[in-house]
Amino acid sequence: MNDTPVLLWLRRDFRFHDHEAMAAAAKTGAPVIPVFIHDDQVEALGAAAKWRLSLAVEAFAESLAEKGSKLILRKGDSLKVLQALIEEIGAGAVYWSRRYDKPGRDTDTEVKSTLSEAGIEAKSFIGHLLFEPWTVETKTGGPYKVYTPYWNAVKGTDIPPEVKTVSELRVPNTWPESKKLDDWTMGAAMRRGAEIVAKHVNVGERAAQSRLSNFLRDRLSDYKTQRDVPASGGTSGLSENLTYGEISPRTIWHAGYHKMAEGNQGAETFLKELVWREFAWHLFFHWPDMAERNWREEWNGFDWRRDNNDAEAWRRGMTGEPFVDAAMREMYVTGTMHNRARMIVASYLSKHLMTDWRVGLRWFEDCLIDWDPASNAMGWQWVAGPGPDATPYFRVFNPETQLEKFDKDGRYRKDFIAEGQANPSETATDYFEAIPESWQLSPDQDYPERLIGLKEGRARALAAYEQHKG
Ligand code: FAD
Repeated sequence: MNDTPVLLWLRRDFRFHDHEAMAAAAKTGAPVIPVFIHDDQVEALGAAAKWRLSLAVEAFAESLAEKGSKLILRKGDSLKVLQALIEEIGAGAVYWSRRYDKPGRDTDTEVKSTLSEAGIEAKSFIGHLLFEPWTVETKTGGPYKVYTPYWNAVKGTDIPPEVKTVSELRVPNTWPESKKLDDWTMGAAMRRGAEIVAKHVNVGERAAQSRLSNFLRDRLSDYKTQRDVPASGGTSGLSENLTYGEISPRTIWHAGYHKMAEGNQGAETFLKELVWREFAWHLFFHWPDMAERNWREEWNGFDWRRDNNDAEAWRRGMTGEPFVDAAMREMYVTGTMHNRARMIVASYLSKHLMTDWRVGLRWFEDCLIDWDPASNAMGWQWVAGPGPDATPYFRVFNPETQLEKFDKDGRYRKDFIAEGQANPSETATDYFEAIPESWQLSPDQDYPERLIGLKEGRARALAAYEQHKG
């Protein structure tokens, strides 16, 4: 029997089902030591994402304990921590699921080469995607820049079946020392907001699985029409779980595909949305500075406003534009925001308020529990204009007409705007409990006046655009 322990390095893959790295580690027959490292990348996370990650780690540690195993927690530089652990326990191998962001890839490459040189088996497996970015190429070679051809290229791919759930991991004779999650205070930057957002999270693999099956059973058929209505609860909510690998995209894909084969009307649209996430990672892999730089260079000289008081009102959900404010407050209260609302607030900030899209991108990064660097960067660049396959700059979402279309009954506004309501909903008043006290906002105040008229804002943006184009 192989008694030399294998380290299973977990990052964003907190599940037992369809986990190639874990299944391979279990298959060696050796003792498996699952480890999570609080490194610089974890340290750099936004407030909500860092807090939500700690919940994922906590839940997964509990699931491992139910199986008689344990999650070892360490803090520091990943390579140094792994080297120290290898030394302590005499591990012969480190297995992990691949990452696709640049800093993650750089770290993993260094870890792989250093450990391999030292005679340690360093093995990586497919990570949080269906299609690893380098496996999809245009006919002439090179990456896709437009979604539809990308979708056409991947839709017929034979996606491998899910890997069976790992039910048991062999334990070592002695466990290495583990740090305490609580000591890391990963929720500190959330301040009092954590208690409010905690009401809305769905943490862990079991929660993710039931979210998927409930969605497929109750909402998939109407997905095509309801997915754009923010108050309808018509989408899956799975982005939260995908972000932490509590469910694999392959599980979602196969379940959706099965429904499509049964003739479910919403299934193809749903799969297409799932593939938008793949496309985002495809772009982000090939253009790793997409969160910092305009994808189209001709945008570099555009006269965006830097951070400003209007942007601060936007962050606080106090623009006087009900769709925008409801959405910004939804994010503060629940840690997520409906996709249509994300498009509207992004358009409003970058066009009506003429503010640099990166100001908004960073706020999302700080507030979203489903923060995903690729989807966030693609989303912002797509709406603002500089992105590949972007919506043209002259397409300015009108938040008022969007409300008439997608919040006919006013439910979304009622859910998140308390001012002027006799009996405001819990989510609407929770906003005022979640925000920093220093903002000094109260539901009893009057709802703010508009920052700028919609026509006026649109005209200002279009004029700046025309001038820029020369
Ligand atoms: P569903 O409608 O149930 O879709 C299923 C899955 O498909 C989602 O979980 C998601 O993984 C994927 N998906 C759906 N729409 C998109 C899309 N437009 N782009 C990429 N993937 C998509 N998504 C994130 O996960 N994290 C982010 O940080 C993020 N930031 C965004 C910023 C902006 C400005 C915009 C416009 C969009 C952003 N999105 C982001 C994409 C999208 O809004 C969310 O994925 C979606 O709202 C998640 O809700 P859901 O899981 O209920 O989606």
